[in-house]
Amino acid sequence: MIIAIDGPSGSGKSTVARSIARRLGITYIDTGAMYRCVTMWCLEHEISATDEDATARAAAALDIDLAYHDGVQQVLVNGTDCTRAIRSAEVDANVSSYAALPKVRTLLVEKQRRLAQAKHVVAEGRDIGTAVFPSAEVKIFLTANAQARAHRRAVQRAGGDVASGSIVSTTKADEAAILANLLHRDDVDSHRKTAPLKAAPDAFHIDSSDKTVDEIVSIICARAQPYLDSAAAATSASTQPAADRDAAAATSASTQPAADRDAAAGASAAASAAHTERYSWFYAHAMSEFPRASRVFLAVLCAILFPVTKLLWRWRCFDEIDVHALAGKPYIVVMNHVSAIEPLITMLYLHHKKIPLRTMYKSEFNRHRFVAYLFAIAGGIPVVRASADMTCMHWCTQALSRGEWLLVYPEGTRVRNLDIKPPIRAGFAFLALRTHADIIPAAVSGAFSIAQARSFVHKFSRVCIGFAAPISSHTSSTSPHAEGSARMSKKKMLELLERESMNRVYTLRDELKARFHTRA
Ligand code: C5P
Repeated sequence: MIIAIDGPSGSGKSTVARSIARRLGITYIDTGAMYRCVTMWCLEHEISATDEDATARAAAALDIDLAYHDGVQQVLVNGTDCTRAIRSAEVDANVSSYAALPKVRTLLVEKQRRLAQAKHVVAEGRDIGTAVFPSAEVKIFLTANAQARAHRRAVQRAGGDVASGSIVSTTKADEAAILANLLHRDDVDSHRKTAPLKAAPDAFHIDSSDKTVDEIVSIICARAQPYLDSAAAATSASTQPAADRDAAAATSASTQPAADRDAAAGASAAASAAHTERYSWFYAHAMSEFPRASRVFLAVLCAILFPVTKLLWRWRCFDEIDVHALAGKPYIVVMNHVSAIEPLITMLYLHHKKIPLRTMYKSEFNRHRFVAYLFAIAGGIPVVRASADMTCMHWCTQALSRGEWLLVYPEGTRVRNLDIKPPIRAGFAFLALRTHADIIPAAVSGAFSIAQARSFVHKFSRVCIGFAAPISSHTSSTSPHAEGSARMSKKKMLELLERESMNRVYTLRDELKARFHTRA
């Protein structure tokens, strides 16, 4: 599995890539360091960047070794430690000219590909996702505003590190000179003929200006994890220790199907991850910005499904609230989950009311490309379950900050037994506190008999959906009856908000059931 990170100078690529390598236990390839080594050597040996053949000969002859000890990089050129020397102002000023030479690039790209053979790697540079590893599983384009990049580099030059909070004072003149160099390098790197700096079309863009290293690393690791899992599943049989293999051979008849299942699960995780990547643009953008063709397609689908589902399930919605009046403000709708019917009806109903709804759904659905597409244009946002899926959290936060609504099923799975109260996933309460979005408790009743009959045609039942008055994510946590009010820890606030919301969901569900004499 390859994670390719591209972006301009000072966007934080090296810090992020090093941290990912440590967290996932994979190999880090700093391709910029290689171009720097060649540049340093050529400057020392008075080989001009205008002499491509001589530079390429020097690059071919150099023995570049990028070693890491406890996450700290050591760069050896022909056995000599050049870790600091390759970061000098002189190398900074010249590296882009040497890196633009096609013959040098061909040589170094070959070396980079060799380093990645049969390994999981995170590689960063300018052309990783476009030229070095165009089929990398995870592609990231990391950017930051120019001032932030210059400041980071200036602090780094002075011996500090912005990412780890070790700030060293720098002068305005230093920062201005570094900014000029960064802009010059960006310009040369972006306009050269061979493998210019640009985002791969399928790259996921992250602006690091106002994000912590940890946040960025979590977003990228969440994208990489399904590939690591699938690779582990696919190779588990061949990498088993000999003793395990012998034992497995003895019981091969019984273990084979399990192994097959593991491999299939791995392949399906990889397919979901690939389709999630493919449609990630939709998850990151407002529904109003979706391409016209997909908006029209969704409108046509809804126009067909609305009457068809009405006929099939005789569904109705009961609002304690005026849904129209709430449009434009962000809300998190939390609902009990019985079947596939209620997400569809909720989507149709709110689409009809012209409210942009983003529905969180399990990423496993994305293993089928067409389903992934349909869910994407309908506003779905996939979540990798049983993991802290920070990418999903990020998409949801963005959606709420744009005033879109988010539909969440905190039970995580379909619950058809009213006596069971499953453990609740508190992600929605976290999002509410983080984005200040209020929570609309909602409930479904009546879908149970349809789901139980395993038929989509109604069985003397009528599906009812109710929306209760919003619960304020703020007053709930700071109201006088909220234990300890202002001094309450975040954990307690989350628990309280979660409990209050889910109690209201279950009460509403029971009210709907009693009122309409439905069975569930
Ligand atoms: O990432 P870093 O700032 O160390 O890279 C130094 C220079 O090496 C860049 O400005 C760019 O000119 C060159 N480079 C490149 N392709 C890469 C990595 C770096 O051209 N993959």
